Amino acid sequence: MSLLQKHLYILEAARSFLTKQAYLSDLCVEIQQIAAPTNAEQKRAAWVETFFQKLGLEDIFQDEVHNVYARIPGQNATSTPALLVSAHTDTVFPMETDLSIRIDPATHWIHGPAIGDNSAGVAGLVALAQLLMQMRANGAAPPVDIWLVANTGEEGLGDLRGMRAAVERLQPQIGASIVLEGMGLGRVVYQGLGSRRYRITAKAPGGHSWSDFGTASAIHVLTQIAADLTRLKAAPKPRTTFNVGRIWGGRSVNTIAQEAALELDLRSEAAETLENIVSQTLAIVKRYQSKRWTQQGVEVLIEEIGNRPTGAIEANHPLVQAAKAALTASDLDVRRAATMSSTDANIPLSLGIPSVCVGITEGADAHRLSEGINPALLPQGMQHLTLLTWWAARWLAGQENAPEGAEK
Ligand SMILES: [Zn+2]
Repeated sequence: MSLLQKHLYILEAARSFLTKQAYLSDLCVEIQQIAAPTNAEQKRAAWVETFFQKLGLEDIFQDEVHNVYARIPGQNATSTPALLVSAHTDTVFPMETDLSIRIDPATHWIHGPAIGDNSAGVAGLVALAQLLMQMRANGAAPPVDIWLVANTGEEGLGDLRGMRAAVERLQPQIGASIVLEGMGLGRVVYQGLGSRRYRITAKAPGGHSWSDFGTASAIHVLTQIAADLTRLKAAPKPRTTFNVGRIWGGRSVNTIAQEAALELDLRSEAAETLENIVSQTLAIVKRYQSKRWTQQGVEVLIEEIGNRPTGAIEANHPLVQAAKAALTASDLDVRRAATMSSTDANIPLSLGIPSVCVGITEGADAHRLSEGINPALLPQGMQHLTLLTWWAARWLAGQENAPEGAEK
């Protein structure tokens, strides 16, 4: 018996709701219209909080980083671990971005900044809450507590700060986590790609390019550091990468630079190899902090600007199998690629809490102004999310084993 057949009864109550594509796509657009750049998610957080209040969820609150929390009470809530379902509210688009949307007349796709990443994810979260409350009203309460969190700080230098705060707060109760991304339906991410990011700044006396020639230059020092960084040894397996992504400094062509800086991104599939390339980096920086340089008035500083921990569960973990089975049961293809990514799931995975990151619909052009989603797949995306959530709650209550009919 497939996962869908076994749990078909839970969907009956919500069937009319699940098939409302227009309702779901309107939700995506309503959320997308609220600007929410990383570090300025307040307005979108307030919208989610109001939505949760209208649904009558329990324990609704915001924390100091503007994560919004709500709880759907489970039947055996006191004795069992809870399920966490989360979606990040922040987007990569600055506050002043034009958020106008465009519907493609040929494909019916919806295009607009952040419509997929992560307005559709937040829409999935609040629609799931609505659905679970309807099921609850119809006598199908989840067996364990389900915590819903609309968290901040996932993108860029947000450094997963929202998810970190949410897991820290809920950790003793959380037995598993489902992270929602608006795009990438069909993908099941269960390996967290770790990263470390640094800003390296060189300072030097500098001066006039002609009259002070011979005094140390921050740019000359920094470019030597950058050149050394391009020779970092990155293991091919587990895959490890480095990138000097930004470099700036100096005042004018005829000034010996007093300050210059670069930003470095280091990533690896495994914690050990990540630590290895981090220590290579620190060793390079240390060489430029030696007496030879300080005597010339050179100061080199290194600052950590990002730290995403690694963590993973096995491909045959019941939660991964359930996510795949929920896709298959919703007539969706399981995408085998890209099971490793840097998402909010890094945080629970790094702490040994089983977690998967799944999509709500198909999308394209993430992080571009032309970002788009296919609204036609929203009902199936919601169905797969509902099945997975329901299964995970039952699994935490000890009512489920690894699902049958899973795509292996
Ligand atoms: Zn995202």
